[in-house]
Amino acid sequence: MLYGLMQSVPLTLNMVRERVGELYPGKTVVTRFSSGFHSCTYGELLERAGRVANLLKDFGLRRGDRVATLAWNSHRHLEVYVAVPCMGAVLHTVNARLAARDVATLLDHAGDTVLFVDHSIWRTLGSDFQLPDCIRHVVVCEDEDPEGAVEAPRASNATLGRYEDLLAGYPSAFAWPSLDEKEAAGLCYTSGTTGDPKGVLYSHRSTTLHTLSCLFADGVSMRERDVCMPAVPMFHANAWGFPYAALMAGASLALPSRQTDPQSLVELIERAKVTIATAVPTVWTNFLEFIRSNQAATGKIQTLRRLPIGGAAVSRSLIDGFSEFGIEVMHCWGMTEISPLGLTNLDRSDVDAETLKATRTAQGLAVPGCSVRVVDGEGRRCPTDGRSSGELQISSPWAASAYFPGIAENVNRAQTSFVYSEGREWLRTGDVATIDSHGYVRIVDRTKDLIKSGGEWISSQELELQLMNHPAVREAAVVARADVKWQERPVACISLRSDNPEERQRFVSTMQTFLSRTFPKWQIPKEVKFWDELPKGKTGKIDKNALRDWVAGTEFDRAEI
Ligand code: ADP
Repeated sequence: MLYGLMQSVPLTLNMVRERVGELYPGKTVVTRFSSGFHSCTYGELLERAGRVANLLKDFGLRRGDRVATLAWNSHRHLEVYVAVPCMGAVLHTVNARLAARDVATLLDHAGDTVLFVDHSIWRTLGSDFQLPDCIRHVVVCEDEDPEGAVEAPRASNATLGRYEDLLAGYPSAFAWPSLDEKEAAGLCYTSGTTGDPKGVLYSHRSTTLHTLSCLFADGVSMRERDVCMPAVPMFHANAWGFPYAALMAGASLALPSRQTDPQSLVELIERAKVTIATAVPTVWTNFLEFIRSNQAATGKIQTLRRLPIGGAAVSRSLIDGFSEFGIEVMHCWGMTEISPLGLTNLDRSDVDAETLKATRTAQGLAVPGCSVRVVDGEGRRCPTDGRSSGELQISSPWAASAYFPGIAENVNRAQTSFVYSEGREWLRTGDVATIDSHGYVRIVDRTKDLIKSGGEWISSQELELQLMNHPAVREAAVVARADVKWQERPVACISLRSDNPEERQRFVSTMQTFLSRTFPKWQIPKEVKFWDELPKGKTGKIDKNALRDWVAGTEFDRAEI
């Protein structure tokens, strides 16, 4: 051991809290509730976070105890976001779109002791909802109906109170403890798109490093002068780290509550002068369509400059569409297990313009602090030639090394997501990808979405991206239909910009030719099914499981071709 090393200041979220309190107490948080806008400063927000911490202390909360939130994006949710980890407890953000039974399972699995729940969500949980015994206190946050009656939880001894009433009884000064960077700060469950939800336990160190990475110039590059609008829910992988990143950078925040329809987002962007915003591609597809057909809206979003978009593949038509309005789309890739950002698409200065143009739809380069590799079935690295595909694996201080233990039957299966090789830990992402000689990663598909036809693989994602480039298409997804002869065949599920039947007919007659420019004949779907709007899952992405179920329950329909 050598002496004379640097300070060992722990990497904890108290860094974020202290910095924003010292430097940026005047910056603002604007929340758009359906009833109107609410605005407060970071100084006021931190005072209220102190009250939340005092309330939780009074509840008898100890270090490492879990506190659940079931809430949309609001200043109250942000107060709990700050208070819980900074006092040494663990913030468990539960997906508000889950069914009542699944919410109860997750609260029980996490062993949460306190639940902060938005009034509108509490009401809709309904009579199916049984509060698990581990929850001792329920705090109902007034979101859409501040005066509305709050029904007591059924079959439970938990106390019940309103957020504002409870906060009013506590002081804002709180003795924030010194924490170890290895203590747990947050708990998030994967949304279960490809299996049962699995718990990911973020440490202070991992969340703080991820937060700093969002401020890197060669990353999301959040800056003090930005106004950030996370339109991705705060229960979806910590809203991709954007709330903590905005606080750390001193950027103001604009929170849309549950309103992510284009009109509401435009109003919030105008009101808060938003410069950077994020959400899954489906939200931005609707938004782009709205601003294209609504000239008044374009005048209201003049401050908007950058859209880091991820969660699902981003099509060229979306990137080009926003660039017509002077808005830069930055393609990002991540997953709950990586806090969640791992790749961002930036232009390298040593790569020629032609190549960069072609890589614009790739998911991008590893964020500094992340290492990526693509391996074959035997665990050997594939060549970085932009063609050889294999499973994408990632190693990073903000990537999970195991799942939060529990749901017994899943533990063993889930832990196979982690491997140790080349002297370090790797997370198996379950995504199939290529890496080119410059390091640009392109996701080919999710392993579970690949379609096996005649012994060969078809990438559903590549077909979807090309379909999205068809001028008539609004949304596209491709899923497999079981086939006696070929094993599986692709089915194109489409929602068109216009619901005119002639438009459908025109699309059907041109789709084969359109796809044959890029795909061999055997990969092109022969079956097309139209939807007014494709079904969405719990995190707003297109729900391929629902589409697969639909396909499994129907016969091959030649009439649709
Ligand atoms: P879920 O697995 O339930 O969808 P996550 O939000 O953690 O929950 O999703 C992570 C997955 O989303 C990734 O493994 C990948 O398959 C997909 N994904 C995320 N970003 C992108 C992107 N830019 N392009 C393609 N797929 C993406």
